[in-house]
Amino acid sequence: MNRNEIVECEECELTETCRMPVPYAGRNELNVFIIGEAPGREEDEKGKPFVGESGKALKKAAFKAGIDIWKDCHITNMVKCRPPGNRTPEKGELSACFSKWLGREFVESNPKHALLLGKTAAETLLPFTSIGHGGKLKLKGIMWYFLYHPSYWLRRGGDVWVEDNVLPYLREWGEAWKQR
Ligand code: SF4
Repeated sequence: MNRNEIVECEECELTETCRMPVPYAGRNELNVFIIGEAPGREEDEKGKPFVGESGKALKKAAFKAGIDIWKDCHITNMVKCRPPGNRTPEKGELSACFSKWLGREFVESNPKHALLLGKTAAETLLPFTSIGHGGKLKLKGIMWYFLYHPSYWLRRGGDVWVEDNVLPYLREWGEAWKQR
């Protein structure tokens, strides 16, 4: 799948208020996925996912856990367009973007490990399960992991909170797929 195809998408109404769709980053063929909710203001401006404050927090924590998210992972969002005012994407928007893009990302990259960031990703992709922060489960050939969204890490206390409450899980996650 070509990133330019995604950039030109006008499938749902989110395209009317965002600057442009923000495609996945990292390498398409990698079968380690990080899935967030939606681009924020900085991502919308730069056309790249996870480059705002939340993305920087993720990158920093992952680096401490021995993971280079840009080199080791396929980084993507549930919806590729920024919702107005950073609101939560609506069901129809989530469904449209999954049908058009995220579903294809799964088919083409065949993920074996997927880290879901925030409840929008978890509740949409795993609606029949209850998976909490630090939780994991194997389903349909994928090892799913779940963490609060990095925007929540920042609200809870930044580096200090992340050290105790995120890093152990990120290390475990990285060790799991590096053994593949
Ligand atoms: S959110 Fe997804 S489906 Fe909707 S316009 Fe953007 S890229 Fe297309």
